[in-house]
Amino acid sequence: MTKQKLVVIGAGMASGRMLENLTEGAPDAWDVTLFNAEPRGNYNRIMLSPVLSGEKSYAEIVTHDAAWYEDKGVTCRFGERVIAIDRAAKTVTGEQGTVAYDKLVIASGSNPFMIPLPGHDLDGVIAYRDLEDTNRMIDIAGNPEAKVVVIGGGLLGLEAAAGLRLRGVDVTVVHIAGHLMERQLDEAAGYLLRRALVDKGITIKCGANSKEILGENGKVKALLLDDGTELPCDLLVMAVGIRPNTALAKESGLAVGRGIHVDDQMVTSDADILAVGECVEHDGAIFGLVAPLYDQATVAAKTLMGQGASFVQKELSTKLKVTGCDLFSAGDFVDGEGREDIVFRDPARGVYKRLVIESNRVIGAVFYGDTTDSSWFFGLIRDKTDISEMRETLIFGPNMQGASVDPMQAVAALPADTEICGCNGVCKGRIVEAIEAGATTLAEVRAQTKASGSCGTCTGLVEQVMAVTLGDAFQMPAAASICGCTDLTHEDVRRLIKSQELKSQDAVWQQLSWKTPNGCHVCRPAINYYLLADWPLEYRDDPQSRFVNERNHANIQKDGTYSVVPRMWGGITTANELRAIADAADKYNVPTVKVTGGQRIDLLGVRKEDLPAIWYDLNQAGMVSGHAYSKGLRTVKTCVGKDHCRFGTQDSTGLGIKLEKLLWGSWTPHKVKLGVSGCPRNCAEATCKDVGIVCVDSGYEVSVAGAAGMDVRETELLGKVATEAEAIELTTAFIQLYRENAKYLDRGYKWVAKVGLDWVKEQVVDDLENRAALIARFELSQSIYRKDPWAEHAVQADKYQPLADLTLEAAE
Ligand SMILES: Cc1cc2nc3c(=O)[nH]c(=O)nc-3n(C[C@H](O)[C@H](O)[C@H](O)COP(=O)(O)OP(=O)(O)OC[C@H]3O[C@@H](n4cnc5c(N)ncnc54)[C@H](O)[C@@H]3O)c2cc1C
Ligand code: SF4
Repeated sequence: MTKQKLVVIGAGMASGRMLENLTEGAPDAWDVTLFNAEPRGNYNRIMLSPVLSGEKSYAEIVTHDAAWYEDKGVTCRFGERVIAIDRAAKTVTGEQGTVAYDKLVIASGSNPFMIPLPGHDLDGVIAYRDLEDTNRMIDIAGNPEAKVVVIGGGLLGLEAAAGLRLRGVDVTVVHIAGHLMERQLDEAAGYLLRRALVDKGITIKCGANSKEILGENGKVKALLLDDGTELPCDLLVMAVGIRPNTALAKESGLAVGRGIHVDDQMVTSDADILAVGECVEHDGAIFGLVAPLYDQATVAAKTLMGQGASFVQKELSTKLKVTGCDLFSAGDFVDGEGREDIVFRDPARGVYKRLVIESNRVIGAVFYGDTTDSSWFFGLIRDKTDISEMRETLIFGPNMQGASVDPMQAVAALPADTEICGCNGVCKGRIVEAIEAGATTLAEVRAQTKASGSCGTCTGLVEQVMAVTLGDAFQMPAAASICGCTDLTHEDVRRLIKSQELKSQDAVWQQLSWKTPNGCHVCRPAINYYLLADWPLEYRDDPQSRFVNERNHANIQKDGTYSVVPRMWGGITTANELRAIADAADKYNVPTVKVTGGQRIDLLGVRKEDLPAIWYDLNQAGMVSGHAYSKGLRTVKTCVGKDHCRFGTQDSTGLGIKLEKLLWGSWTPHKVKLGVSGCPRNCAEATCKDVGIVCVDSGYEVSVAGAAGMDVRETELLGKVATEAEAIELTTAFIQLYRENAKYLDRGYKWVAKVGLDWVKEQVVDDLENRAALIARFELSQSIYRKDPWAEHAVQADKYQPLADLTLEAAE
């Protein structure tokens, strides 16, 4: 069968979903060419805000990359804009040439609207639509003095402002209406939202009318309001709305109103051209949220496959993706004749709920501060449920209706077409279908239905649906697979890496039948760690599979600057080291110098571009990275011990230094902290560390599995030994056992609780041969990994000279 030629314009969210459906349903029917003006494939545009705020990376939001398209046989013309459609000749012309089609799908999305204020074309005036815009904002956040003005207090403007603020930027939102998000929120909810954003450090100006954008040398300098206020800025983000991108369709003579006219099958006024996404107008409506676009994508794919399907418009709801601002709005909540309100306020908790009722039906809902039951209310609006029977208790949610006090019963009672995942338009029935077809984990449900796969706010609800559907068969998340790329648990993977001698990431993907080509942001760091822990000689660490702090060898702080912590072995320092730290603080304008809880000195507020130079300077003074950012050995806290203290029985400081010099640089499943106290008075607080040693008259008590973070735990005694050498042996063997067995990101105390202290004692204390073997394997690993990352990456700004290898000196 000869393939038909399909051309798609736009590799956005709608076309991504359409091609998924099409390539699954009719893998061999079409020869597809995909044009995209952006130089990349499809990413989850709605997750740009988490990328901006630093909560996600771009790599984590890619949904269809070049490899995906290649796998499906789609010819990609990324970075090439389509400039004309010739409907008579049935061709599409891009910037690099012309392609013929049998069917054409236009999925060109929207253009951000730019208010034509004087100065709108200055450099530094941007919209918020794509990765380039996001990167511009991230770049500006690199300058600690930077100021940004956002015009628009709607969903996008506020997400931009919150993301910038999280990166430490001084940001002002200018909004023309009297309260924020006035199209989705009433005044009361708008007020609470404003208060929460102001608390986050964002300046909000409502009722403010922009008059002119002022510039200097072609670059934006300030926004002038019509009351004469000047708001200085280095970047101005306009987030005031979008317009369907219809230019191509209009020029080719297709019927276009506000968007490209389509019928219920997503066919335009030309039978061979379909359109999906934000560029379309259906039955008078245009669209700006993904849920209906995904429905359109499904219908368009079916139309192309010759299957009957119709697009039906549904009620939509809005959530704001700003951490700490729980907000939900749906339906119509404008005051009107015959409409009544039910309002609930809890000012102390910052909770506000309002329902608008008309003819015994809920027609609108606005919730701020507590959105737990929003899906249930949304269902009432969508289904036009008669609420007269539950009116008295309606505002308190599903749990207060009739006998159902159990939230699970409320979920069980939801009808099949209740929407569970708004981003992806997935209803309860679809999730139940997936479970009935064999999905038993969240990852499987997500893979099959996409529910909870975007902003993730519905994850709890999806799990509840799974729990009521699967009953006892529901696998608790603790035993869940590492991530959606595999069905295997961490424990399975660790076992298989050892037993099958898998020594590279590729081997893991291949041999363990990973479902994705190269893993994802969840499994890659774990697999990278397991491989380097098990095969230190054969495996080479993959920096791309590390978290951002580990990649940057410094801790990123909330304002986008970094903190730099040199190692101070066992908490001891010298006048020379202190001088070097003081000099570095002066030279790099370090605003804060802080003594940490782990007996070190933290230089806070270092600019990213200064990192290599400050490392270089500190290296010159003999100091190495303190790994304060790492899943590895952090500090060994010590007390002064017998040299200075009247009570000290042993040289606790000396033992701390020996331990730190032995263990530093070792990568571990999570961070590791040690403490050594010179007597049971325990001034080093050794009994809440991963390993704590308390010196006593008869020797050393080595205890493990303490914690003093989210959980507070006292250590448990591993063993009592007579000599310092034995104390070091027990510590080393314990850490190696943890390195070889724990699940990635399990702290020591969690791991010990899982495997049991008795087992750990058997391995480390009782079995001397095993103890020696663990220590030998630890030392082998250290021969590769005991490296100072600063020395490896430091560059002197003016004159680069290869650095002396300080590793040995520091380790001695
Ligand atoms: C920051 C941000 C946050 C958002 N948050 C949410 C949210 O929380 N919930 C929600 O439901 N929605 C949200 N949205 C909206 C959602 O992202 C859009 O509704 C959705 O991406 C639209 O999909 P689409 O495929 O129609 O267009 P797009 O995803 O915009 O894709 C269109 C693509 O077509 C390309 N293109 C255009 N013209 C041409 C041409 N002539 N030639 C070649 N290529 C062309 C464009 O470059 C673009 O890549 C958000 C949007 C943004 C920008
Ligand atoms: S723990 Fe004991 S030895 Fe150490 S400082 Fe305190 S009292 Fe002195």
